[in-house]
Amino acid sequence: MHRLFRPALRSLSLLALTLGLSACGTFNAGLRPGGFTTVVIDAGHGGKDSGESPNQYLKEKEVALDTAKRLQPLLRDSGLRVVMTRTSDYFVELDDRVAIADRYYPNAILVSIHYNASPSHAPRGVQTFFWRPDSYGLATRVQRHLIGESGLENRGVTRRVLRLTHSPRVPSILCECGFLTNRDEANLVSNPAFRQKIAQGIADGVLEEQEQGDVNIGSLPPLERRVIPRPSYTHHTGRRHRATMSRDHSRKGTSRHKGRTKTRATAKSKRKKPRES
Ligand SMILES: [Zn+2]
Repeated sequence: MHRLFRPALRSLSLLALTLGLSACGTFNAGLRPGGFTTVVIDAGHGGKDSGESPNQYLKEKEVALDTAKRLQPLLRDSGLRVVMTRTSDYFVELDDRVAIADRYYPNAILVSIHYNASPSHAPRGVQTFFWRPDSYGLATRVQRHLIGESGLENRGVTRRVLRLTHSPRVPSILCECGFLTNRDEANLVSNPAFRQKIAQGIADGVLEEQEQGDVNIGSLPPLERRVIPRPSYTHHTGRRHRATMSRDHSRKGTSRHKGRTKTRATAKSKRKKPRES
């Protein structure tokens, strides 16, 4: 081969390698090790939105906030920047929670903390929701550690369109850390030491994902049989929030307001700048 062609050939080889790696990258949409430096912690509900259902033993907005505040130092002390969407009992619109997370794109993840409720007292367990393919590893690791720390039943990792799993530009998960309508689980959650375990489980999952990314996570599971590709306003299994607060569009026939796509502006939300620590 003529010497003059060699540099050109080398350039072509490099180009092909680069394109090849890029193409491979499209197959692996997960987080890479060290893939984020900021964690936006979202304590569910707040203010006028208590997250309550009639047969619930504890106020969700209170235990969600407490758990979020326990999670904050665990992540901060491990070297991550932490942003809270709320730090006390005030209401934050879901869109504002999304906007807060998006401010830290592309180096952030969003972790939304909730406790579940059901019309029946029977359901129990922990479940983590995600939608984006790059959030599956995070959801898997957090769910695994949540189960390990809490000892609660494993309801699994579920891919579902929710406002906080679908709308943010950053990897996002929503954790349902036990049923407040189940007497045993509500009793556990009422104990601060148990909420510390919940926070520790979430922290361990987040830190493991930060360190390892999606290595050895496996491929994305198939979608649920029926997924409506429209962000729902609530997430709780089998619960309907009050109409003025939110509407569930994810479940057929559960809402009197089925079909509407906007929440009613019943009151202006108190907006506070996210706190960093
Ligand atoms: Zn909730």
